Amino acid sequence: MALKSVARDRVFTDEPMSRHTTFKVGGAADVLVMPSSVDEIIKCMQIFKEYGEDFIIIGKGSNLLVGDGGIRGGVIKLSSDFGAVLCEGNVVNAKSGASLAGVASMCLKNSLTGFEFASGIPGSVGGGVCMNAGAYGGELKDIIRSVTVFKDGEILRLKGEECDFGYRTSRIMKENMVVLEAEFVLETGDYDSIYSKMKELSSKRNEKQPVEFPSAGSTFKRPEGYFAGKLIQDSGLRGYSIGGAQVSEKHCGFIINKGGATAKDVKDLIEYVKKTVYDKFGVVLEPEIRFVGDFV
Ligand SMILES: Cc1cc2nc3c(=O)[nH]c(=O)nc-3n(C[C@H](O)[C@H](O)[C@H](O)COP(=O)(O)OP(=O)(O)OC[C@H]3O[C@@H](n4cnc5c(N)ncnc54)[C@H](O)[C@@H]3O)c2cc1C
Repeated sequence: MALKSVARDRVFTDEPMSRHTTFKVGGAADVLVMPSSVDEIIKCMQIFKEYGEDFIIIGKGSNLLVGDGGIRGGVIKLSSDFGAVLCEGNVVNAKSGASLAGVASMCLKNSLTGFEFASGIPGSVGGGVCMNAGAYGGELKDIIRSVTVFKDGEILRLKGEECDFGYRTSRIMKENMVVLEAEFVLETGDYDSIYSKMKELSSKRNEKQPVEFPSAGSTFKRPEGYFAGKLIQDSGLRGYSIGGAQVSEKHCGFIINKGGATAKDVKDLIEYVKKTVYDKFGVVLEPEIRFVGDFV
C-alpha cells in the first residue's frame, strides 16, 4: 500500500478506534496512519486524496465519540512520533502530536508560568489548539503566539489573533486546517510555585472528575448563564444509564463508559440528557465532544 512507503510500520488497517479514544468505544477505521514528520503528514494526505478517500486528523482522541460502524477512509493520528517540544527563552514550541502534559513539563522544567491551567488536559497540542482547550479560567488562546498549519496545499504561519479562537472553537476547526506546530509565550516564574499550582489543579481534577472511568471529558459546552452539570443533576439524571453509558455520579457534566458501552449507548444517552434538560429548563445543551464516523 502506498502509505507504507511513507510511514512503513505505522500504518494499520481495520484499526479499532476504541484503542485511540479515551472513551474506549468506536468501530474500526479502514486505515490509520501515524506520521512522524511534516513531510510524512503531507504525503499521507496526498495519498488519501489521490485514492479519493476522506480522512480525519486526530490527536489523543480525548474529545471524540467514534461511531460503532467505524470510519470509512483514513485517520491520520498525530502522536508522540510527531511530538517534539523545544524551549527558547520564554517561548515553547511544540509539534502538534506533543501532549499538553508534555508541554506543561517543559514549562515547569524551565520555570515558565502560564501553562499550569492546561497541565491536566489529556489532549495533544493539535487537538487542544483546534478546540481552544481551556480549564480553570485559562484557554490556550491566551498564550498562543503562532500556529503553523497546513491548508489547501500550503504551510501557513498564523498569528494567535488570526486563529479566531472562541469557546472550544477556532478558525482552524471551521476551515479544516491541520495544526503542525504551535508557539506558546509564557512568563518567567518560580519553579516551586508552578509545581504546586499544577499539583493543586491535578488534585482538584481527581477529586471532582470521574477520571477513573473512560470518557471524553465534559460532554456538553457550558450554556450561557448555566452549568451543564448542574442542569443535568437538577433534571434528576445523576447516574442515569443507557447500556454501558452513564451520567457520572461524581460529576453530571461527564458521560462515562461504565464498562462495555457502545457509541450508540453514549449517543442515545446524550440525546436523552438533551431532551430531558430542554423539557425541564428550556436550555439547549450543545455537545462539546466531536462525533466522528458511522453511527449504526
Ligand atoms: C478526563 C478528561 C478531562 C478533560 N478536561 C478538559 C478540560 O479541562 N478542558 C478542555 O478544553 N478539554 C478537556 N477534555 C477534552 C479534550 O482533552 C480536549 O478537547 C483536547 O484538547 C482534545 O485533544 P486531542 O488531542 O485528544 O484531540 P482529539 O480528540 O483527537 O480531536 C479533537 C478535535 O481536534 C481535531 N484535531 C486533532 N488534532 C488536530 C490537528 N493536529 N490539526 C487539526 N485538527 C486536529 C480533531 O479532528 C477533532 O475535531 C478532557 C477530556 C478528558 C477525557
